[in-house]
Amino acid sequence: MNRGILIVLSGFSGAGKGTLMKELMKTYDNYALSVSMTTRSPRQGEINGREYFFSTRETFEEKIAQNGLIEYAEYCGNYYGTPRDYVEEQLAKGKDVILEIEIQGMRKVKQMFPEVLALFVTPPSAAELERRLRGRGTETEDAIKKRLMRAAGEADGVEDYEYIIINDDLQACVAQIHGIVQAAKLSTMRNAAFIKNIRKEIGDLSKGE
Ligand code: 5GP
Repeated sequence: MNRGILIVLSGFSGAGKGTLMKELMKTYDNYALSVSMTTRSPRQGEINGREYFFSTRETFEEKIAQNGLIEYAEYCGNYYGTPRDYVEEQLAKGKDVILEIEIQGMRKVKQMFPEVLALFVTPPSAAELERRLRGRGTETEDAIKKRLMRAAGEADGVEDYEYIIINDDLQACVAQIHGIVQAAKLSTMRNAAFIKNIRKEIGDLSKGE
């Protein structure tokens, strides 16, 4: 069975990544969404093990020390990281694994896995971004300001991603993401082993072996 591909999805806080991911997972069965570990407090409605594995700084630092995270970063005063085991298991099972992480995490993942497919989600405008952040009603004014500042910083790094998804219409975006992933799976870069093999077979055949 073919291994799945690794996908990073980033986007400004409030870009609608969570909703997009839920819909993508509901619509297609080839994806596995990695659940990150974080030291931030759960928001209302968030469940441990579903949105995140919520942990103390101590437990998080132990996990780092055990090399149990593929990457981790600090974001607005909290740690966020990707547990290694789940990602490796799912890739081996042929699932396309999505990491919903911020830009520093994407850069670390890219160093280790240059073939990672990096997607960036943005709302159609800055005004819409602010409206969504405030509309969520879960963040304090101070947290909203921090997230907007952080978004300004992340806006400079968008070109490090291969594709940009403008989140205007949920279903359209889900279809776009799926289309991009399907195309990426056929890229020559991600099929190096197949190409090497068929090249050799054709070479042998042409020599009459
Ligand atoms: P939030 O607090 O809004 O759930 O997430 C804050 C930011 O942390 C988002 O940009 C989200 O993509 C990012 N994030 C979530 N999990 C991880 C992770 O495991 N690693 C990294 N580097 N960023 C993460």
